[in-house]
Amino acid sequence: MIAAKRQLIANALLTGTGAEIALAVDTDGLRSGMRLWFADLDERHGPVAELKPHGLKSHRVRLTFGNFSGAVIRQIAQAPVEDQQLARALVSSIGPEHEVSIHGQDLADWTVASGSFQLQAVVRHVEGPDTDEAIRRTCQEVIVPVMAAMAELIGYDILETETAEAMPAYEGAVHPANVARRERNPRNRLLCIRLHGDKCAVCGIDPRQVYGAGIGIVEVHHLEPLANLAEPRPYDPACDLIPLCPNCHRAVHTRRPIPLDISELRRCMEDAGA
Ligand SMILES: [Zn+2]
Ligand SMILES: [Zn+2]
Repeated sequence: MIAAKRQLIANALLTGTGAEIALAVDTDGLRSGMRLWFADLDERHGPVAELKPHGLKSHRVRLTFGNFSGAVIRQIAQAPVEDQQLARALVSSIGPEHEVSIHGQDLADWTVASGSFQLQAVVRHVEGPDTDEAIRRTCQEVIVPVMAAMAELIGYDILETETAEAMPAYEGAVHPANVARRERNPRNRLLCIRLHGDKCAVCGIDPRQVYGAGIGIVEVHHLEPLANLAEPRPYDPACDLIPLCPNCHRAVHTRRPIPLDISELRRCMEDAGA
């Protein structure tokens, strides 16, 4: 596999999961497969995703746990409900054509309860599964969201580049630090983009079309209906997150503590003649 493609996959995994991923290409025989795991855990102490050619035009992806994963599985058992919901939403974001299944469990409410956890998917390609393009596609469509789900359950920390404390404190159902955490979580971002695409929900710009495919700077905005403080509803990662370009995101947060609604910002833009 070309080194550049390998780098591309490693980057997609790092961006989507927020964790460093180790990757080994299996070149036993003629057909190339791949194994991926969290670099800090090594292959035996955590989840491992394995990609293998399957039939003439498919890949089979399987996620299992290494033999010494007890500590990680205990840690996953303590994952907050919200993290579990995001993990399930990430797995559910994989298209039905890839036939995701979790051994002995329902896709709607699975948990990682033991080391025998096993997730499987099949990715069909138009051309043979041994091409770099096929491997890249399988990673993007299945392995990235699956590993992101695992990263969320394990609880890889999000690198805080800016301080959430910069936001003023206020009374409300949802703590602003929670909202900021959701907006910066790479797994929430991945889910948001998978579900809603890369285009800004206000101005329609796709930063990657403006700056190039390598500059994916679309941000995630959390749509918690803060105005409706009397009746907070549980956070739903699938519909509470929308993609915004950095400008529009900055603009909605010019009003605090309750950000502008996207329709309000659109109206401002119309009034300004944009
Ligand atoms: Zn925008
Ligand atoms: Zn926001």
